[in-house]
Amino acid sequence: MARFDQVAAAREQAPGGIAHEFGELHRLLVERVQDYAIFALDPGGFILSWNAGAERFKGYTTDEIIGRHFSIFYPREKVSVGWPEHELREAARVGRFEDEGWRVRKDGTRFWANVVITALRSETGELIGYAKVTRDLTERRASEDALRLSEERFRLLVTSVKDYAIFMLDPEGRVATWNEGAQRAKGYSEEEIIGRHFSIFYPPDRVAEHFPEYELAEATRVGRFEDEGWRVRKDGSRFWANVVITPLYATAGRLVGFGKVTRDLTERRAAEKRAIQDARRVAAEEAARHTADVARQRSEQLQALTSALAAVHAIPDIARVVFTQAFPAAGADGGSIGVIAPDGNHLRIIVESGYDGLTDEFRLVSLDAPMPMPTAVRTGTTVVCRTQGERDARFPATSVLLASFESSVVVPLASGGHPIGAIAMHRRPRPGEALTSDAVTFMESVAQQCGQALERAELYESERLARREAEDARARAEEANRAKSQFLAAMSHELRTPLNAIGGYAQLIELGLSGEVSEQQRTQLGRIQRSQQHLLGIINDILNFARVDAGQVIYEVTDVPMQDVLQSATQMILPQANEKGIALGVTTCAVDVVARADPSKVEQIVLNLLTNAVKFTTPQGRVRITCQRDGRGRVACAVSDTGIGIPPDQLDRVFEPFIQVGRSLTTNQEGTGLGLAISRDLARAMQGDIEVQSVPDQGSVFTLLLPAADSGSISD
Ligand code: ADP
Repeated sequence: MARFDQVAAAREQAPGGIAHEFGELHRLLVERVQDYAIFALDPGGFILSWNAGAERFKGYTTDEIIGRHFSIFYPREKVSVGWPEHELREAARVGRFEDEGWRVRKDGTRFWANVVITALRSETGELIGYAKVTRDLTERRASEDALRLSEERFRLLVTSVKDYAIFMLDPEGRVATWNEGAQRAKGYSEEEIIGRHFSIFYPPDRVAEHFPEYELAEATRVGRFEDEGWRVRKDGSRFWANVVITPLYATAGRLVGFGKVTRDLTERRAAEKRAIQDARRVAAEEAARHTADVARQRSEQLQALTSALAAVHAIPDIARVVFTQAFPAAGADGGSIGVIAPDGNHLRIIVESGYDGLTDEFRLVSLDAPMPMPTAVRTGTTVVCRTQGERDARFPATSVLLASFESSVVVPLASGGHPIGAIAMHRRPRPGEALTSDAVTFMESVAQQCGQALERAELYESERLARREAEDARARAEEANRAKSQFLAAMSHELRTPLNAIGGYAQLIELGLSGEVSEQQRTQLGRIQRSQQHLLGIINDILNFARVDAGQVIYEVTDVPMQDVLQSATQMILPQANEKGIALGVTTCAVDVVARADPSKVEQIVLNLLTNAVKFTTPQGRVRITCQRDGRGRVACAVSDTGIGIPPDQLDRVFEPFIQVGRSLTTNQEGTGLGLAISRDLARAMQGDIEVQSVPDQGSVFTLLLPAADSGSISD
């Protein structure tokens, strides 16, 4: 390598030398330039001049570098292959040499430089040196590297992306690039598909309607096109794809093709479908559970309501249960119960709750009124208004009254199949809680329970009235009975006194104390006395009956040997029997047949039975009396006859007071019709009874039953 010639350098810098050639002004310009290293080399490559840019780039001061060979700026490997000299040679040969490459700073660091070396020649053409302009391209190089790197990375990225088909189309829609994702999604290899029109990916129907072309046209028009739809793989199978097409423009707005990104959504779509199905199933299950819950709750509420209503009998109590239990359960905030008025043409509100002001005009309304409750009664069907608007349109008359309520349900009430009124249930507005048909059904059940409760209340009320009437009637009857007994007792007493007087005076006349009594008079006096006796008997009977009926008789219960009773009674009746020619038969009564009773009453009864038997038996007939234990702890004393008998329909009546079979009280016949009534009352008062069996025209059997003395069934 040539050496730096100090003398020559001085010469070049002297006036007329090449350095001087730049001129003063030029020199200043060059020296100040910061962004370029501009310096001169002598023909041998030694540095002749230096500027600020050179100092900045390369780190050498002017003093340090002047006279040094320019190869100092090159990396060792370049110097070793003689690159600096090559540059000078080329510059000398063609006048200019440009190069880009690594250069070395004073501190040894490298920078990427653009170098232009220009050969400088004198007017005679002699090479006098070189001008060298160096530009630091390190930053540009770095950004270019970054760009290249990112492009490379991007290319790698695109080709290796597996989940997306990313490829380019030329402006006509033919496939220009391909990636792994595209191959995977569509099944074509790169060799197979490049150059094919992209409509190959579409189902025939879409191709037929030129959808692929439409996509490109739309992408071009609006800058982007996105679609989801079926696409076709190489093997003919379909997949659900999301497709985005973007037009690609080169500089100057020239369309160079389209970027297409396709994603296979088949799995996602299936997953979505599954998710939707799952969600639907869960929702359906949830809804079913909810419905079941509501139904269970409703039936519990209905049961509670039913038992609560069963426990009340009065309308105010029913209303209380309805308003405090049924209404909250049905979600009603107010309402009323109306019943059909007695005139059958009006509905009367009997209880109400929750109205802002129920004026009288609404308490009694005509059944023809265009209002919800009369309408429900008239039609026999539930009136349902789900919204205020609907209700006001149908029933303007109640729009003010019901203004605070959103929905209304009015159910007719029936009792025994007949309409009896209606129950109205109103709800205030409740956001998000519409009136469901379930709620309406529930309200109808509530109404049914309510109707039944009202029906029961009515029944209960009428029963109560009937009971009271019966009690009143009994009290009245008892009172009347008492009055009757008192009257009979008083009357009998009053009658007996003059009757006794009649008897007494008749006897006095008969005794002849007041003068001679003729035979005819004696006969007439006898009739007077018999009539007096007969009348006295009747009056005694009446008095007796009155006493027995009024419970005023005193019983002295003791052991009664029936044999004694039979003996004394038959003794007494014998004359009458004989008179009529009637055979009186007495079966011997065992000594141990002992009744537990009042002896005088037993005698009175037996005598009455025997008297009747003789009385109603035709002459030559037979009357028989027996007495024995009946095996059930009782004593049975039977009086049988062969008399006229009693028709079956009269058998029970003969025990009623004043009843005489086949005769009226007006007929002139012995007896009062009180004997059997008194006898049975007496027998029953002593825990006994009288029974009768009879066949008309053949005879009768009257049986007195009394407790046996040793049966212990009666006490003193
Ligand atoms: P009285 O004998 O005073 O009429 P009773 O009460 O003793 O009243 O009898 C009522 C009626 O029962 C009698 O009038 C008669 O018609 C009927 N009766 C009673 N005993 C007999 C009998 N043994 N045979 C037929 N009828 C009888």
